[in-house]
Amino acid sequence: MQKYEKLEKIGEGTYGTVFKAKNRETHEIVALKRVRLDDDDEGVPSSALREICLLKELKHKNIVRLHDVLHSDKKLTLVFEFCDQDLKKYFDSCNGDLDPEIVKSFMYQLLKGLAFCHSRNVLHRDLKPQNLLINRNGELKLADFGLARAFGIPVRCYSAEPYPMYPATTSLVNVVPKLSSTGRDLLQNLLKCNPVQRISAEEALQHPYFADFCPP
Ligand code: AMP
Repeated sequence: MQKYEKLEKIGEGTYGTVFKAKNRETHEIVALKRVRLDDDDEGVPSSALREICLLKELKHKNIVRLHDVLHSDKKLTLVFEFCDQDLKKYFDSCNGDLDPEIVKSFMYQLLKGLAFCHSRNVLHRDLKPQNLLINRNGELKLADFGLARAFGIPVRCYSAEPYPMYPATTSLVNVVPKLSSTGRDLLQNLLKCNPVQRISAEEALQHPYFADFCPP
């Protein structure tokens, strides 16, 4: 841990506190996720183990990079690439007034990262603005894989109950009035409860909503 100089606390997650820190040798800025290992506890939390195992395999520009894992008696520290802020803080700073081109770019990068996870048989399972990190240059990265899991390997049978279907009562025009009609169509397809009918991340990238989008 001598390698890093802790600068400031930047967040509190499911199983650890996140700090901004500087590598004393390279001066690289990183994010340290600290997990305290209490004596009376059961060792390393399962969410931390999930995150380490899965992120070691997921190297993509739209997924936060896990650089290193440091272990001492009482602490486990995950060293991540540093991002400027999370999407929740960005939304709050914009007061809901988002540039449609930025929305499209973030949506595209979110789907790119997600399609990569799915191609590696990983489900994130906790996508929300706090877990999407963004940089000043407009990059977006998926983070917090503490609830993620690998799929495609036989585990146990899930409950086979299908749920009653309820018709949509609110039109998406009232929910996202500024989104274009193609954007609303994509959203509608992403919000399908039945996974058989839901558009996949890979298919969503081919949707007409992105027809006029030039990836950087
Ligand atoms: P997490 O435990 O991953 O949910 O992280 C909690 C919060 O810490 C996030 O919502 C972010 O605000 C912040 N955070 C986590 N990882 C990073 C990172 N690599 N760079 C910058 N901020 C981060």
